[in-house]
Amino acid sequence: MTTTVTDASLVFGSLRSAIDKLDLEILNLVSKRAEIARDVGLAKRMAQRPVFDGERERKHRRALVAAGKKLGLPGHTVRALYDAIAREGVAQQLALSHAPSKPVQTPKDSDDFRLTRLEPGRKLTVVTVGEAHIGAGHFEVIAGPCSVESEAQIEAAADFCRGLGVRIMRGGCFKPRTSPHNFQGHGLKALGWFARAAHRRGMVIVTEVLEPGDAGAIAEQADMLQIGARNMQNAPLLRACAKTGRPVLLKRGPGATLKELLCAAEYLLVEGNSQVVLCERGIKTFETATRSTLDLSAVPSLREFTHLPIIVDPSHAAGRDEIVHALCRGAHGVGADGVIVEAHPNRQTALSDKRQALTPSQLGAIMDELQGVERL
Ligand code: PEP
Ligand code: MN
Repeated sequence: MTTTVTDASLVFGSLRSAIDKLDLEILNLVSKRAEIARDVGLAKRMAQRPVFDGERERKHRRALVAAGKKLGLPGHTVRALYDAIAREGVAQQLALSHAPSKPVQTPKDSDDFRLTRLEPGRKLTVVTVGEAHIGAGHFEVIAGPCSVESEAQIEAAADFCRGLGVRIMRGGCFKPRTSPHNFQGHGLKALGWFARAAHRRGMVIVTEVLEPGDAGAIAEQADMLQIGARNMQNAPLLRACAKTGRPVLLKRGPGATLKELLCAAEYLLVEGNSQVVLCERGIKTFETATRSTLDLSAVPSLREFTHLPIIVDPSHAAGRDEIVHALCRGAHGVGADGVIVEAHPNRQTALSDKRQALTPSQLGAIMDELQGVERL
């Protein structure tokens, strides 16, 4: 009796695990199908063709119902299954189909974007920095002080950043200040403090490069190089940073169009470095309530056009700490792959961008809500 019960549970167990395996295979197939549907959507968009082809859909559905009958599956089951699966495919295409009624690019223009452009068959780029993967579907919060001011300051910043779950720390060692009379950064000495403080705690670092000649030395200690807004179109700097092979964070110039940003990214990709993250950080407008105007529409607009990951810098756009959290939510809401924010262990003493520095507890609230959550 006991043997029979045990046998029965063994049979159930193995049947159930066979079913579980099949369910997973079905999910994998649905996901593969959606990927192909997305490519079809892109091809349709480039050819200026509508997403829906009702006649083709109906014919295909009828053929599937007939095939299902031969397998002993009732028509209503096949129709329900097909509708659910097809909906997923259409959803993938619709995400790409809010295209303007006329071509996005002229043929000449589109040639300028040959490396950054999203194309059928081209995979979305995932940029790997340490244990973080930017563009892989999860929201990454990069944080740290505007400037590396002293060994004690960066140690304290690394302490609270790591404690809050930051994986990529930011910090400027060479500072591109608006006025030459302001703090310009402690250079390579600060980079040594920064790399030690972050790496000892298992974090990686991103820091700005100002001079092409410094790129190599900075790349020896920094895990990711930043090209600042003021230097977005500095071709020798773009080339030098790309050649180091380090991932590059490319910020949009405050007066640059998205096309110009993508052209700047082409300079990096053409050197063979495709580990590039684009960053919207606010543009110049007539508005004075903020330091710059955060152009959140840049995110979905770029998303339509490029395979590169896109993050947002709400700190430099806002210029004040109070609205940074709300703008981080906005960045997530429009589908960004993450944000980069400024935070300081003791903001009253900050040597640069004091007004926009988050306190550790303000950063903690952002981390709690957004770090690692699914990207929209
Ligand atoms: C920075 O991130 O430190 C910085 C100077 O930003 P931006 O280049 O966007 O002004
Ligand atoms: Mn700053």
